[in-house]
Amino acid sequence: MDGLTTEEESFDFSSDAFFMQQALRGARKAYAAMEVPVGAVITRGDEIIARGWNQVELLKDATAHAEMLALGAAQEALGDWRLDGCTLYVTKEPCPMCAGAIVHCRPDRVVFGCSDPKAGAAGGWINLLESAPPLNHTCQVTRGVLGQECLDIVQSFFREARERKKQEKIMRRLEDEKKA
Ligand SMILES: [Zn+2]
Repeated sequence: MDGLTTEEESFDFSSDAFFMQQALRGARKAYAAMEVPVGAVITRGDEIIARGWNQVELLKDATAHAEMLALGAAQEALGDWRLDGCTLYVTKEPCPMCAGAIVHCRPDRVVFGCSDPKAGAAGGWINLLESAPPLNHTCQVTRGVLGQECLDIVQSFFREARERKKQEKIMRRLEDEKKA
């Protein structure tokens, strides 16, 4: 494994917290690319078979959420759309699109960091992951793993975005005043 800090080295490498740390690395990558910072990994046994991070702006694709990209990569890695025996880790509660896709791919478990009470589809707003029937698959859901860290990164992203907008407004006003 590359770039592990001593703190991570003391982790149990098969624990939910360890894999959530890996998902958080994806979220930080998204943050650096000025994308909403959400990251995901998919494991089978103790092995990470796929990673994804939100790339909606980069790919100009509204469906390029971390989970969607990770699901695609996992299907490719396994050569199958059935993700039997897999666990998906994602830093933020999945949205309805991703939760729908997760149910279709049928991983055993979904572990997420922070909840999304407004639009989450794993119990925050609605619950698509534990709705079989009528849906044809139920995932075992674990909530709140490194929840505060996962929330902090999203909140600081939006705080920065608001600051940036404010600055831009001020700059525009100064420009206008110069012209006048
Ligand atoms: Zn989503």
